[in-house]
This record gives sequence, structure tokens and C-alpha cells, in this order.
Amino acid sequence: MIIILIGPPGSGKGTQSQRLIDYLETAHLSTGELFREHISSESALGCEAKQFISRGELVPDHVVDSMVVQTLEQPRFADGCLFDGYPRSVPQAEALSQLLNLQQREVTLVLELDVPDSVLVERLLARQRADDTLETIKHRLEVYGAQTRPLLEYYKQRGKLETVDGQGSVDDVFGRIQAVVNQLKTDSSESEESNPSTCSN
Ligand code: ADP
Repeated sequence: MIIILIGPPGSGKGTQSQRLIDYLETAHLSTGELFREHISSESALGCEAKQFISRGELVPDHVVDSMVVQTLEQPRFADGCLFDGYPRSVPQAEALSQLLNLQQREVTLVLELDVPDSVLVERLLARQRADDTLETIKHRLEVYGAQTRPLLEYYKQRGKLETVDGQGSVDDVFGRIQAVVNQLKTDSSESEESNPSTCSN
């Protein structure tokens, strides 16, 4: 399965991703985490990304896309993965779709974590990450609205989108995510039964 988790900054994407990869025993690709690793090791990519991240801007698509291509080449991603923070714009979604097409794969499910802006600001101010100042947070929310929100429509039109209420406890939210994922598993095993891929004479 290839699952994409989309949600505004502070929606709990990181926390829920961790729960979901443990539950599904799948690989995790978080572009935010990859950038933070590059920044702390002071790589060339980290230096380039840092200027954008500290201003609350998106890192340019070509930088993100090539980092994702390189990461996905690792064998642990061969059986599927959970994307966390990628794609974050329609051009990134198109780049991902082309990449997966080449491998005869496609996105299985896109999960949106829905949380109102007032709750997001409160949560982000409480977590104190380097890029979590009030000014940057406001800008990241604007960037989310302008560049990432259109992705929801993109995946809705393709019949991939499921929206989950991201308010409540971590367990409540994860319960809702589990319900969606379990339903998907049931649907796909039923369609395999009625349409088996192996031939019998
Ligand atoms: P959050 O979702 O809480 O903002 P992330 O850890 O997902 O945190 O991302 C941190 C920052 O890294 C983003 O604000 C952005 O600057 C950059 N970033 C992460 N993923 C992408 C991406 N796919 N495209 C562009 N920039 C990205």
C-alpha cells in the first residue's frame, strides 16, 4: 500500500504517521524529517532547504522531488510506504504519480487530517520547534492553504481522498485512521476474491 498523510502544520501528521507505520509495518518517508537530518549534518541540501524552512516557505519542488526519488530507491520502500509531508503541492503530486507509474504502482489512499486553524496555532506554539514562531506558523498556514489544500481536490477527483477529524486525543484520531485503513484492506481482499489474479483452469 502507498498511503499519503496530508494535514496542516500541527495537525498531528508526525504522531499519527508513527502510529500508522507501526500498525501497518510499512516504511515511512517524512520530507520534514529528512530535511531536519540534512540541516543537522550541514549537508549542501540542508543548507539550501534551511533558508526556506526557517521562513515558513516550501522548499522548491525540484529539491524535494530529487530527494524523494533518491530515498525511494532504497529497497525498504519496495513494498509500499507512508508519505508524511509529501506531496505538498500539485506539481509534487504529479511528479510522484509519474515516478510511481514508471514502477507500475499507484497511490492507494490519501488521508487528510482535518483540524481548525485556531487549534493548530495553539498546538504549534506549545511544541517549540525551531521553525515554530508565531510569525512563521501563520505563514506556514497560509502556504498550506495556497499550495497544499488544492491537493485535496486533486486526490478527491481521483477517488483517493478520505478525510479524518484530527481533533480529540491521539488515540481517538488513530482509531478513526485505523477504521479507514481496515475498510480499505477489506475492500481490496474482497475484490481479489471476486477477481483473482492467478488463473485456475
Ligand atoms: P509541518 O507539517 O509541521 O510544517 P514538516 O516536518 O512536515 O512540518 O515540515 C517542516 C518544513 O519542511 C515545512 O514547513 C517546509 O518548509 C519543509 N517541507 C517539508 N516537506 C516539504 C515538501 N514536500 N515540499 C516543500 N517543503 C517541504
